[in-house]
Amino acid sequence: MTDNIMPVVSTPQNVSNNISCWKCGKQIEAADNYCKYCGKGQGSHIYFYYKHWGVWILFFIIGPFNLWFLWRSPIIKIKWKLIYGAVFLFLSCWVCYIFYKAVLKIFDTYAYFLNIPF
Ligand SMILES: [Zn+2]
Repeated sequence: MTDNIMPVVSTPQNVSNNISCWKCGKQIEAADNYCKYCGKGQGSHIYFYYKHWGVWILFFIIGPFNLWFLWRSPIIKIKWKLIYGAVFLFLSCWVCYIFYKAVLKIFDTYAYFLNIPF
């Protein structure tokens, strides 16, 4: 009497409602706020430092180390990643140059007063 037992085949229903997680790539439902496999937030629940304004705030806090977050951002398009990356690198180099000139000036000042030939 096992003839009427059908094998249970799980077919994905409403495939169009499924999206893939930006972090692990597995299929989750579009309504999910968090991935059930890796736990990362989806949609508006993505961390602030992956958003456009977030990478700018990070730049003023941790400087060019924000490039790590910029590159991993699932929101920012590749075009903006390249533009932001170039801007952040330029600003970082500019700040380093200003700092370098300031240190040179300090050394010059001390050398003048202490008669040390730098
Ligand atoms: Zn995931």
